[in-house]
Amino acid sequence: MKAFGTVFTDEMTISWNNGDGWTNPEFVPSDSLTLHPGAHVLHYSSTCFEGLKAFRHPDGSVKIFRLDQNIKRFAQSSDMLHLPALDTDLTQQMIIDAVAKFADQVPDAPGSLYIRPTHMGTDPAVGKAAAPSATSVQYVLLSPVGDYFSGGGEVALRVLLNEEGMRCAPHMGMIKSGGNYASALGPIMKAKQDLNADQVLFCPNGDVQETGAANFILFDGNEVITKALDESFLHGITRNSILTLASDRGMDVQERELSVEELLERAAKPGCEAALSGTAAVLTSVGTLIYRGQEYQVGSGQPGTTTRDLRKALNDIQWGLADDPHGWLTTIPVIHKAE
Ligand SMILES: *Cc1c(COP(=O)(O)O)cnc(C)c1O
Repeated sequence: MKAFGTVFTDEMTISWNNGDGWTNPEFVPSDSLTLHPGAHVLHYSSTCFEGLKAFRHPDGSVKIFRLDQNIKRFAQSSDMLHLPALDTDLTQQMIIDAVAKFADQVPDAPGSLYIRPTHMGTDPAVGKAAAPSATSVQYVLLSPVGDYFSGGGEVALRVLLNEEGMRCAPHMGMIKSGGNYASALGPIMKAKQDLNADQVLFCPNGDVQETGAANFILFDGNEVITKALDESFLHGITRNSILTLASDRGMDVQERELSVEELLERAAKPGCEAALSGTAAVLTSVGTLIYRGQEYQVGSGQPGTTTRDLRKALNDIQWGLADDPHGWLTTIPVIHKAE
């Protein structure tokens, strides 16, 4: 099977903003985009994106998970980058129209259709290093995907704790913006090469934050501990969903500061579990923490029952195998194609 996110549907929806509102969305081939080489995004990284998924249910219908929350975050990212404001109704229609058109390419469980709305500044002006782009383009790419981590949650990751650096500039943390991933790449590549680590958990000054593209959650008995929302990190919708499901089960959800010291202390206890949450990763176990040259096993070092149960509870809602008590799914209208 091809790597996650490398297969695309033939077309995407696109809309341009020339500084005076959005053009009517169109379907265009998804393999090219024409930009001026001086486009703002190519020099000053005025870009943000979203990552969400559509799922095929046993009755054949297709549903998008937490569409409203992803659009809200997309609009917020655009706003924080001083890009032209999104028209959230238009963006929602672009996403729904794209998924409806390619509904027959939504894989069955355990696959899904990964949806990648993208927004970028297009002003052909290399002199705008300290000024926003007045024009922009947004498009919705679609990518049918299988299970992100082979093993479907049966693997436990090796994660390096990094206290010296940070993933991105603190005021950029809650923006899902391209430059942040380039910023985190150096430490991630080094951790892979030197320590065979899968991910880096950024803990600036001992404050346990998140990895390059996923949030971090600790499960200790009935306690669920994760960093409280602030500007410094990405507010994951999977994080929010897992905390909601944990709370539904009567678990003690604590959104607060978590220090490296407390993390290592708790991790040593049998039964402790840690996991990364994100749309792509869903909820993936962390089995080993690497800190200052030493390895610390988290609980048994293997995927634990809490992680597994919550992952399954979330997947069951997404794939229509359980009720959707929080109204997280949006149904895609079926388009009957003329044969
Ligand atoms: C996308 C992302 C997440 C996870 O967000 P979800 O909404 O759960 O997919 C976490 N951290 C970073 C840095 C991200 O880019």
